[in-house]
Amino acid sequence: MNIAFIAAEVAPWSKTGGLGDVCGALPIALAASGAHRILTVSPRYKDYPDVVDTGVRVQLHLFGQNHEVRFFRAVKSASPNCHHLFVDHPSFRRAGIYGDSNGAYGDNLFRFALLSRAGIEAAALVPLFGAPASNGGPASLEEARFPLGEDVVFHVNDWHTALVPLYLEALYRPAGRFRRAGTVLGIHNAGHQGNFAAHQFPGLDISSRWWPQLDMNGELNLLKTGAVLADKLIAVSPNYAREICGELGFGLGGIFSARGRDLLGIVNGVGEDWNPATDPHIAANFSADDLSGKALCKRALQRELGLAERDVPILAVIARLDPQKGVDLLMQALPWLMQHDLQLVILGSGNKALEQQMREMEWTYPDKARGWVGFNEALAHRIEAGADLFLMPSRFEPCGLNQIYSMRYGTVPVVHATGGLADTVETLDPSRDRGTGWAFRHFDVQPFIDALGWSLLTWWRFPDAWRAMQQRGMRSDWSWERSAERYEAVYAEVLSLRA
Ligand code: ADP
Repeated sequence: MNIAFIAAEVAPWSKTGGLGDVCGALPIALAASGAHRILTVSPRYKDYPDVVDTGVRVQLHLFGQNHEVRFFRAVKSASPNCHHLFVDHPSFRRAGIYGDSNGAYGDNLFRFALLSRAGIEAAALVPLFGAPASNGGPASLEEARFPLGEDVVFHVNDWHTALVPLYLEALYRPAGRFRRAGTVLGIHNAGHQGNFAAHQFPGLDISSRWWPQLDMNGELNLLKTGAVLADKLIAVSPNYAREICGELGFGLGGIFSARGRDLLGIVNGVGEDWNPATDPHIAANFSADDLSGKALCKRALQRELGLAERDVPILAVIARLDPQKGVDLLMQALPWLMQHDLQLVILGSGNKALEQQMREMEWTYPDKARGWVGFNEALAHRIEAGADLFLMPSRFEPCGLNQIYSMRYGTVPVVHATGGLADTVETLDPSRDRGTGWAFRHFDVQPFIDALGWSLLTWWRFPDAWRAMQQRGMRSDWSWERSAERYEAVYAEVLSLRA
């Protein structure tokens, strides 16, 4: 199959959260079998050192004029069947991906409509693949003569690229192009929908008869158009696929529900970059069979953060500081937590008021708490490796990756039982040797404190049960391969529908 991922973020080149992780890892997992040709298309936000100009340019008409975009390319040597294209245009080259300290960029509709159009064109235009070798082996990269082609599945992601199915219907298929192309909308977060004022509609360069596909209470809603027009909708966990049919669809619940036959959930996997046995960022590597390296990582983390090197539980949070993540619930639980002999580490950035609360927390409890404001990938790895407990009291969480990274690193998660958190974390049941953490049901401070209480009691009093729980989490199969197989089945179905 030919599969083109079009996304606002593809790690490691661009990432603000889980979207970037998924669009970095899933294409590679799909390419691993050698059975498919895979392409990712994302913006060239800055100069990436490993990326070269393909020389291909295309003019796209949007907002009343032509815009030239250029395509740059990268291929990771470990994954030759997966090509990465980067759309170059001045509007992408800014400090932030979606906005800066003044808020979201005012031309985001233009920027992501441009990405969507460029992604479609890339599949047809940019020569990437060589002729198959005569021995049936992989094509030579030097002979990049063939584009992905028009018989393709476009896997688009969140509102940023949800215009792709609309553009196919409105511009390309009427012109006889991409007739057999299928579309899959990946729903990583239905809380962000791409809402824009109706007066911007003419800028999209499509007939006004498509307005109803975009209209949500008199505004443009890009996620809606994807939800209505994509052949299949894939939420990032089965539980989240159910939840978005109701309140967590944030106004689109009725549409998701009506698309129920075409909506499913597939839990994200974890890439090899989050493997404690090989992680280059951490003080010592370790595995489920030999956890001794984890103790060294804990000491190293305490030293790095200026915390006493004592055998107390370290509780950690790594998150975008957004009301979604429930950091406010943690702040409510703070006075209770700080009565105990423990250490708390929070790494996060985003909401300015929450950043300030993190700083105040550190001033108030200098011996026990650290609030690291900023985005720091290497520190995130060291925290996962060194902490004992990982807290995710999210209001809602489509899949969540950090609780999975935590389980891989023997760091026991305490989560709100919502979305993918409920699908991935099972509450400890020592009588049956089951469970990998704690998942509390009601989003409120007391249930959260109760779960924290159980977790701390277990850490202090029942080290054997703790270790068994760590090992169950570490030995679970969190690989992308398992999820990639499920995606493959959906792509095959989409192509058969369009054949
Ligand atoms: P979301 O996509 O809602 O942000 P996920 O749990 O799915 O949440 O993914 C978050 C990803 O972003 C993880 O890889 C996490 O480690 C990373 N991350 C979030 N905030 C930071 C930060 N301040 N520094 C480093 N990594 C971060």
